[in-house]
Amino acid sequence: LVLPLSSVFRAVGLVQRGMGAYQRVEEALRLPVEPTTAQIPADHAPAPRPPATRERPALALHDVHFGYDPRRPVLRGVSFTVPQRRHVALVGRSGAGKSTVFALVARFYEPDAGTVLFDGRPAAELTRDACRRGIAVVDQNTHVVHGTLRDNITYAVPDAPEAEIRRVVELVRLEEVVDRLPGGLAAVIGERGSTLSGGERQRVALARALLARPALLLLDEPTSHLDAINEAALTTVMKDVAQECALLVIAHRLSTVQHADHIVVLQDGRTAAVGRHEELLTGSALYRELAASQMLRPGELRPPPAGGR
Ligand code: ADP
Ligand code: MG
Repeated sequence: LVLPLSSVFRAVGLVQRGMGAYQRVEEALRLPVEPTTAQIPADHAPAPRPPATRERPALALHDVHFGYDPRRPVLRGVSFTVPQRRHVALVGRSGAGKSTVFALVARFYEPDAGTVLFDGRPAAELTRDACRRGIAVVDQNTHVVHGTLRDNITYAVPDAPEAEIRRVVELVRLEEVVDRLPGGLAAVIGERGSTLSGGERQRVALARALLARPALLLLDEPTSHLDAINEAALTTVMKDVAQECALLVIAHRLSTVQHADHIVVLQDGRTAAVGRHEELLTGSALYRELAASQMLRPGELRPPPAGGR
């Protein structure tokens, strides 16, 4: 499976034929919850356990270099970490390499140089399947298929217990939708079914991803307009999701970036800056520009709080 991630997503977006094909793609992308440490073969005497307070990051990239064509590098030194249960935003101009970072993390490609580590273990020591079992990907194309709301949430984990389904519905703030639709979870959505707004479809895709209890969730935020209610819901949902798993978001909205634990600014395939929103507003000209041009509607750019640097 060495398709570009974008092609896979495009393929997923185009599949309207039923659950079978979806499920196969979804299976490649979803992740059951295997604690990585449990997968380490016990060939050696157990190494001393690191203290519980010094958790290894869910994801770390160290000086990653990559080009689809070896003569034309796309990533030219990308380094950042996503700590366990933290929300990290990835921002940068179009073409900076954000989607390419996702493609490498999902292991559709291998870096030309540098390392990707999951939970402290180099990706190269893990099979692609083992890596993908821990990762869920939610891209911008929200795949809602014709079927019940329940089918749409559970098709990657069809035997999910009722309590788990309720848990993710609550986590992504879909209770109101369940209450509104005739039949609730049994309501038919998708083509010819009840319509959901873009923001609601995005949250259905998130619920589906979270049902597999991933260790790391990769989310490419929608760029399309979200109404204020859906935008606020997305922001709150991200905060709650980050209580459960590590969250790496390609961010297009200031409302979500502001709440990230930290923000990684990519510029021409390099990590140009890493920091919190307030720090970057003062410390990174590119971030200021992105905030002013891409991530904000007019009038939203606020100066750093008084006393901030
Ligand atoms: P971003 O998501 O930040 O907009 P991308 O990672 O999509 O950036 O693209 C970074 C660069 O890699 C661009 O120059 C783009 O044209 C190139 N690129 C992206 N995907 C492919 C691909 N599948 N094959 C060849 N080049 C690609
Ligand atoms: Mg992209």
